[in-house]
Amino acid sequence: MYPKIALIGRPNVGKSTLFNRLIRSNRAITHDRPGVTRDRMEGTVKRNGRTWTVIDTGGIHLDENHDATEGPIELRGFEAEILRQTQEAMSECVALCLVVDGRDGLLPFDRRLADYVRRSGLPVLLAVNKVDGGELEDMLTAEFHELGLPMVAMSGEHGFNMRGFEEDLQSLL
Ligand code: GDP
Ligand code: MG
Repeated sequence: MYPKIALIGRPNVGKSTLFNRLIRSNRAITHDRPGVTRDRMEGTVKRNGRTWTVIDTGGIHLDENHDATEGPIELRGFEAEILRQTQEAMSECVALCLVVDGRDGLLPFDRRLADYVRRSGLPVLLAVNKVDGGELEDMLTAEFHELGLPMVAMSGEHGFNMRGFEEDLQSLL
């Protein structure tokens, strides 16, 4: 078993895009539980002589095989489910990566997640994603400094600063 780092964050901030770039298709495991399929993926990252596992949290959708006669599945809203998955990740990871969307800016649930992961006592890296080029970095990261977490800006989709992001993640191991 390799040390694990989980990607945490609101839906749509770009966690899965980052995950896919990090693992370059070394995807390993999908966990399911009855009724709800969680697209909770684990993948292996091998870089610079280190090997570690990255966990992509947060993809949730109803299982198409769920038998509706068993009654509705209680989904308490995505925030509760994300907090639950974050809690689970805290118990098995050596560090956490809180991913936020630099183009959306700092939202209330980002603040809540930041408090939550800080209380874990684990090393946390704040990843300001969707910074699609270096010229946007200062503008899109400005308001995230108040969270008081070590921060890196990158673009999972366009590749800006992925190397810096990987190095910062790896330094948490
Ligand atoms: P997740 O819900 O956090 O896993 O987010 P996804 O990886 O599924 O991405 C959500 C949306 O954001 C998709 O439409 C992506 O194309 C888009 N996205 C992801 N990364 C970036 C990025 O670096 N820049 C931009 N502009 N869009 C991105
Ligand atoms: Mg996703």
